[in-house]
Amino acid sequence: MPIRVLSEQLASQIAAGEVVERPASVVKELVENALDAGATTINVDVRAGGRKLIQVADDGEGISAADVQTAFKRHATSKLQSIEDLNHIQTLGFRGEALAAISAVSQTTVVTRAAGEPAGTRLTLAGGELHTQETVGAPQGTVIAVENLFYNVPARLKFLKSITSERRLIDEFVTRYALAYPQVRFRLTHDGRIAFQSSGHNDLRDVLAAVYGPDTARDLLPLSSSPALVEEGMAEGTETAAAPLPPVASSSLPASGSLPASGRPHLVTVSGFAGPPGLHRSNRSQITLFVNGRWIKDSSLTYAVVQAYHTLLPVGRYPVAVIFISLPFDLVDVNVHPAKTEVRFRQAGAVFSAVQRAVRETIIAGAPVRGFTQMRPEGVFSWGGSVDRPSFARQPGMPAGHLHGQMNLEFPRSAPTTPFMPRAADDEHPPTATGNGDLGGERLPIMRVVGQVGTAYIVTEGPDGLFLIDQHAAHERILYEQFMDAWNQQQVPSQGLVAGAALYVTPAQASLLEEHLATLQRLGFAVELFGPNSFMVRAVPAILTHQDPARAVLAVVEEMEEDDGRAPLQTQIEARLIRRVCKTAAVKAGQPLAPAEMQAMIQQLEQCRNPHTCPHGRPTLIHISLSQLARGFERT
Ligand code: ADP
Ligand code: MG
Repeated sequence: MPIRVLSEQLASQIAAGEVVERPASVVKELVENALDAGATTINVDVRAGGRKLIQVADDGEGISAADVQTAFKRHATSKLQSIEDLNHIQTLGFRGEALAAISAVSQTTVVTRAAGEPAGTRLTLAGGELHTQETVGAPQGTVIAVENLFYNVPARLKFLKSITSERRLIDEFVTRYALAYPQVRFRLTHDGRIAFQSSGHNDLRDVLAAVYGPDTARDLLPLSSSPALVEEGMAEGTETAAAPLPPVASSSLPASGSLPASGRPHLVTVSGFAGPPGLHRSNRSQITLFVNGRWIKDSSLTYAVVQAYHTLLPVGRYPVAVIFISLPFDLVDVNVHPAKTEVRFRQAGAVFSAVQRAVRETIIAGAPVRGFTQMRPEGVFSWGGSVDRPSFARQPGMPAGHLHGQMNLEFPRSAPTTPFMPRAADDEHPPTATGNGDLGGERLPIMRVVGQVGTAYIVTEGPDGLFLIDQHAAHERILYEQFMDAWNQQQVPSQGLVAGAALYVTPAQASLLEEHLATLQRLGFAVELFGPNSFMVRAVPAILTHQDPARAVLAVVEEMEEDDGRAPLQTQIEARLIRRVCKTAAVKAGQPLAPAEMQAMIQQLEQCRNPHTCPHGRPTLIHISLSQLARGFERT
């Protein structure tokens, strides 16, 4: 093919791909424009996760009638004039690409009236081409409606996630910006229903409560905002030598004349909120970073936050934090990618350590004990009675272990009169069967409990040597098989809560939870919508009777979040959620067990179809044979 210059339309469609990847990117660009225009109220209305409609209305300065058409041209901006301006960008936009990109891949309508102009303008565009322009009456400000996004780019359409996922990304974006701009009133609706709103009263605590729910908001600790001095010319990362530093993007700012003279000190200020160590999530998505009012993604700074919690969080858990970093505009390069969510710092190491120090100092000072106690479940796990084997019920005088209340190892049965069928005699599940799709394994021999080691492992003796059993993994396995059996028969026993427990979640979690209420019901939960982003937990699966009900539901919601978008079969989702419930209910490492409790657990494990692994695939036990022992002692 001969070389040809692409048509303007095709070129802008291609370029649009970098700016507008999905509905949430449209929301981002339009909200950023509204903020740049000095809006005090921003309303975002979304239909079908943004596929049908994204409308952003603001009361900002508006676009003058003479400029409206130009605003939709590529590289048309009022925010940048010369290359020098690029070194101290103070607006969120500056590339002049968003409106062109958005209108290239959608049907767009804008109604705007500039401050001081008598009338407004209404413009319609489709696929980047101007359709109509007329003068209309309109309040000051700008309304941009983006309909049928990607209608002319079917390839893009195919890559969109489910409506819920797109909604979640939009929620995430709007709520984050509401945090950074508490003086602006935000309102977000999905399909006509309010998903989120902030007051605009410039009270960050207020917005935190709207985003995270009142409980979490109360727990968040304000970062002490002592500004850190950064000496010009300071060696990169010197202050972070103690912490293993991941690769940090090096600065790409040109050492041009606009940079401050060497030796001038700069201020990096870190403010915001960090959760106490007791508040943690299954992924990093609740670590939010803003630089000079711009939401950014930065794996290095995210790592700095996580690192600040070093040894304070359980393994594989991540903190909740909202971090606002401000520093001189010329020390941060925002022109890294068209989407403008990445930045480069001229002194990345100094910013890294300023963030880490601010977070670490705050959590150490703010919640030394609280964090630790919050990590431990307060109640006792429940072990139900069984019919065919001596159920464990504490006899008077029996050593109480360190558990209070009644304990039993069995999965609670929905009909207490149903006789318990020992599975050893169950033809449907021969010893090597992989009944529920797990990797199969042989049944365990009969074992005698010897004792507990490290309040985490049970030592037993079998016909050929000894076994070390991970008490948490084993209990998870036991509960999982019992739960799956009950679930297969649609008979998951449920425990009603007398008072009900209130649960506050983020808007994104709320929509996910709402969508899965029926799923939860099949698992033995009864959860009702209670208010915006709040739910009432009325019942929990019986095995969770002694757990914090709201926290148990939250654990399940986190599991849903991880599943979201992968769209596996519903039954797979439910099996995953069941694994999570069993994990929550299972006895933890660190829990002292009385001999009878251990004996009951071992007997239950012997009954399992796949006793060798926990539902997540970790081993439940290690076998040391008599011959291994003999070899070890050099008897052979
Ligand atoms: P950029 O934001 O990078 O300048 P955009 O394509 O997003 O580029 O917008 C182009 C121009 O249109 C902006 O520079 C601004 O002058 C104007 N504009 C866009 N949205 C608004 C708005 N909501 N209110 C006022 N002016 C706007
Ligand atoms: Mg813009």
